[in-house]
Amino acid sequence: MAAESEPERGVDVDSGADAAVDADVDADAPADAAADVDVDAEPESALETARRQLHRAADRIDIDPNIVERLAHPKAVHEVTVPVERDDGTVEVFTGYRAHHDGVRGPYKGGLRYHPEVTRDECVGLGMWMTWKCAVMDLPFGGAKGGVAVNPKDLSEGETERLTRRFAEEIRDSIGPTVDIPAPDMGTDPQTMAWLMDAYSMQEGETVPGVVTGKPPVIGGSEGRAEAPGRSVAIIAREAIDYHGMAIRETDVAIQGYGSVGSNAARLLDDWGANVVAVSDVNGGVHDVNGLDTHAIPSHDEEPEAVLNQPAPETVSNAELLELDVDVLIPAAIGNVITAENADRIRADLVVEGANGPTTSAADRIIADRGIPVVPDILANAGGVTVSYFEWLQDINRRSWSLERVREELESEMLDAWDAVRREREARAVTWRDAAYVVALSRVAEAHDARGLWP
Ligand code: NAD
Repeated sequence: MAAESEPERGVDVDSGADAAVDADVDADAPADAAADVDVDAEPESALETARRQLHRAADRIDIDPNIVERLAHPKAVHEVTVPVERDDGTVEVFTGYRAHHDGVRGPYKGGLRYHPEVTRDECVGLGMWMTWKCAVMDLPFGGAKGGVAVNPKDLSEGETERLTRRFAEEIRDSIGPTVDIPAPDMGTDPQTMAWLMDAYSMQEGETVPGVVTGKPPVIGGSEGRAEAPGRSVAIIAREAIDYHGMAIRETDVAIQGYGSVGSNAARLLDDWGANVVAVSDVNGGVHDVNGLDTHAIPSHDEEPEAVLNQPAPETVSNAELLELDVDVLIPAAIGNVITAENADRIRADLVVEGANGPTTSAADRIIADRGIPVVPDILANAGGVTVSYFEWLQDINRRSWSLERVREELESEMLDAWDAVRREREARAVTWRDAAYVVALSRVAEAHDARGLWP
């Protein structure tokens, strides 16, 4: 998977935007919030989480309530019908979406997923999440998300290509390098982006590489795009380790998930001197208090689910890995793994979120009460969308960057974002997550304020 940014799937519970706004309360929210909502219900839907975070951040800053109300709703959601000829000659009809959340800071940006449970509301919630992620990184993009409700495993390669080309045609009017720039997400990959870029370019009559990011480098993709989310997790973990008074060479790290994010983060931290004592994949993990050789353990891409084949003194389940007595825990597999059920048993001194949405809201409160800092996904894994931004710049300028340049610029962008969030955290004495959302929302709100409401 090469997702730009998305929390893992929750359940879509709200049927209408207004209902969801009303239901959007938090245990820490002011007492006048709706009282009849189970704030500890887990997991939340993506839209509920996004709206709750919006209101939580809005409560912490001086912001025009009209702007908050505007941001609780998407700019537009495009719903399209995608007929596809199956290999047996029959035609099957799928539904696709592209949700534009907020574009005040620039073109919409976000992934396109192929998954049977893609819904309109999920795209809206995940699009909002992209607005915050782009804003916290100060990228000149707004937030979007889209997808087709289809199980990609049921499609042949030819069917996937036909689905992608037809979907590209159906959403053509709402995407473009200055309008909305999709990227890979769950169930889609660089090849999907190549077909989408080709379909769009054929209709435009010219090659338009900047219409999507996450492409293969041969057609305008960026060096360093695939490793970027894991690299940013490692950079942010390194800064957080230092900030919280630990020395990286004396730091024990446990990482759940050994895919793109987990393996890249693990290897960099290992290279920088950290002691990576446990890693896992979907089947379980290996544990060595003396440190694992992270480069010798194949990542998901190199050899799927091979972690347990590695020699190590001990194996651990995924549940046990989360509760190891380590300095730093990096959940980098799926969402909703740190919950109200296990939050009391987390023994790490610091959590850095590699996956999207690994900590439920209820767990977040428990962990905050226990004084364990949690550095949020929208900052830590934002290297993906940041290098997507670099890819877009390279496409527009028709000039590719070296891997070294990509890494240098990513380092610099991550440090800028870290500093902005750190300053906000210190000034307001809030959690890392709240500080990141405050940074993001302040930037979006200031842009709305400066531009005003049209007409
Ligand atoms: P990946 O498919 O490359 O790897 C996922 C890893 O998690 C594999 O090792 C898999 O075995 C393991 N895993 C799957 N289910 C698990 C489970 N139930 N328990 C423990 N391990 C499990 O995925 P990735 O690209 O590394 O993405 C991981 C997370 O990071 C996801 O939440 C994703 O949304 C997020 N993310 C990815 C990117 C990206 O560009 N790759 C960007 C931002 C965020």
